[in-house]
Amino acid sequence: MAAKGFVEISVEGCKGCGLCVHYCPVKCLALKMDDTNSFGLHYSYLAEPEKCIGCANCAIICPDAAITVYKKK
Ligand code: SF4
Ligand code: SF4
Repeated sequence: MAAKGFVEISVEGCKGCGLCVHYCPVKCLALKMDDTNSFGLHYSYLAEPEKCIGCANCAIICPDAAITVYKKK
């Protein structure tokens, strides 16, 4: 199924708390465990882009407003 949404996550703006990973209903986000940002933190990324439904839960829950959601028409 084609993705209904897309998210951009700021690598430097993410503190790796994992809240977005936990609250994504389709589990398409993950923490990048093999890389860190300049603060030494494992940032979140869109691991399975084809699953994203553009619901914006991740952006709402993110305490650092590091996520921008795009909804596909
Ligand atoms: S917009 Fe929804 S489906 Fe897409 S990554 Fe965020 S929480 Fe998951
Ligand atoms: S909720 Fe925000 S700060 Fe926490 S891991 Fe996700 S993008 Fe990073």
